[in-house]
Amino acid sequence: MTKTAIVTGAARGIGLATTELLLEDGWQVAMVDWDADELARATEGRERILALPLDVSKPDQVAEIMTRTKEAFGGIDALINNAGVADFGPIEETDFARWRRVMETNLDGVFLMTQAATPMLRASGQGAIVNIASISGLRASTLRVAYGTSKAGVIQLTQQQAVELGEYGIRANCVAPGPVRTKLAMAVHSQEIIDAYHDAIPLNRYGSEREIAEVIAFLCSHRASYVNGQTIAVDGGFECTGVGLP
Ligand code: NAD
Repeated sequence: MTKTAIVTGAARGIGLATTELLLEDGWQVAMVDWDADELARATEGRERILALPLDVSKPDQVAEIMTRTKEAFGGIDALINNAGVADFGPIEETDFARWRRVMETNLDGVFLMTQAATPMLRASGQGAIVNIASISGLRASTLRVAYGTSKAGVIQLTQQQAVELGEYGIRANCVAPGPVRTKLAMAVHSQEIIDAYHDAIPLNRYGSEREIAEVIAFLCSHRASYVNGQTIAVDGGFECTGVGLP
């Protein structure tokens, strides 16, 4: 039977690569992104998709995502909470509005989407949640008070989901990507950060969107049927070097 996923932040970057991989694997995908123009470009000419230009941080829009997905596909087997925003800055320069902007999408969005999707994931009998955190959620740095804190929250939220929803056959796991050259990363990575990452990462390079998507797809699949509550760093080995984030 065809399996169905909701992918948030699906219009570009890691979310689009994940959508493309799931479609190749035969899934149907509800593609959610608040950037309607980018989403229209990403969905053009594709089959087995539903385009939902909506905001994961707004409860009424999250409810609409679930209603329209259920109408179109009948239910879901996987939820990929990938939508995210980045904002780098030290504590004293991160005003409350900047802090809230990051928390709204990165943390509130994951909570709201998971809560609203749980009935469909329960009904699936083999539901999977994959949350996208970051290596910035695994260790602190001087620039990432909001972003890093939001991603550490996503890692803990994953464990809460795994512990609470396991009895319904729902697995929840987390992917913590290292640096990938997406629009999000390139807006906050200075040349200094790029050079430092190249030096520090054992594979001496940034990852690709597809390399992150491969692990997300694995965690959604039956191949990961006994993997639950884990955070997998997909970072070229950066996390085990002990080197600080640039
Ligand atoms: P990206 O900017 O290319 O894609 C993110 C997408 O999410 C965009 O299309 C954006 O419009 C959408 N989005 C943002 N907020 C939204 C909201 N509230 N509702 C709906 N859609 C929303 O970025 P990316 O690098 O592909 O990021 C994907 C995820 O990976 C993010 O959670 C990010 O924090 C995480 N991540 C990225 C990197 C990296 O280096 N690129 C590293 C670690 C983690």
